[in-house]
Amino acid sequence: MRLVILDDYELASEWAAKYIRNRIIRFRPTADRYFTLGLPTGSTPRGCYEKLIAYHKSGDLSFKYVKTFNMDEYVGLPRAHPESYHSYMWNNFFKHVDIDPANAHILDGNAQDLEEECAIFEKNIADAGGIDLFVGGIGPDGHIAFNEPGSSLVSRTRVKTLAKDTIVANARFFGNDLSKVPTMALTVGVGTVMDAREVLILITGAHKAFALYKAIEDGVNHMWTVSAFQQHPSTIFVCDEDATLELRVKTVKYFKGIMHVHNKLVDPVLTMKND
Ligand code: PGA
Repeated sequence: MRLVILDDYELASEWAAKYIRNRIIRFRPTADRYFTLGLPTGSTPRGCYEKLIAYHKSGDLSFKYVKTFNMDEYVGLPRAHPESYHSYMWNNFFKHVDIDPANAHILDGNAQDLEEECAIFEKNIADAGGIDLFVGGIGPDGHIAFNEPGSSLVSRTRVKTLAKDTIVANARFFGNDLSKVPTMALTVGVGTVMDAREVLILITGAHKAFALYKAIEDGVNHMWTVSAFQQHPSTIFVCDEDATLELRVKTVKYFKGIMHVHNKLVDPVLTMKND
């Protein structure tokens, strides 16, 4: 596991975006060999998406041969609703880059048969050759995608009833009216994310500090589903200083002491300009 600690949200977002950029460019995606990226929604990845868009606009990065799979979507919310994850992804990322919309996969929370929709999503990931890099965020209760506390750590894509805490946390996006907040979602499972060849988890803010502690210093526990990634061969946690507040000084010192090694992953930052 790598823990990359940056001073603040901006720098953490930039580091993550540079990492994604370098991974895509090093892969040398072509029409015969797509790079497959798992993607999150939420407030945390916004800064990272902004940077990726800027790299695209400057000609340094193309998503032409990238396939994406999103982590989750609400059940029963119209696709065009401003809070649907379809809207989020389109407005915050896809419409600003050169990805072919046919390659941007998001679960359909309005499918006739939700279970079948989940099975098809898993099949689509498998048909794409698996996910090269799954980017995620976590909730303050340590959930990854909508894998709420107590979710199986080998779970697959499925229909999930949301925890009360999640519904309350999401109310801010629905005019603080709890009755308008979806209570169910489709989500990839912890096992689905674990199958990715690499995982990058963005964690920022003091309100996520306890979750980061549970993620990396305490044991693997299904009540903190992000802790499952202790058993993944290649996970990077990218965080800001505030998110480290509950970690041991020793942990923080160790990982800060090897930042020069981690920084080699993003420096130099590669470009597609002369390809
Ligand atoms: P946030 O949500 O990025 O908006 O904090 C993350 C999550 O709850 O998974």
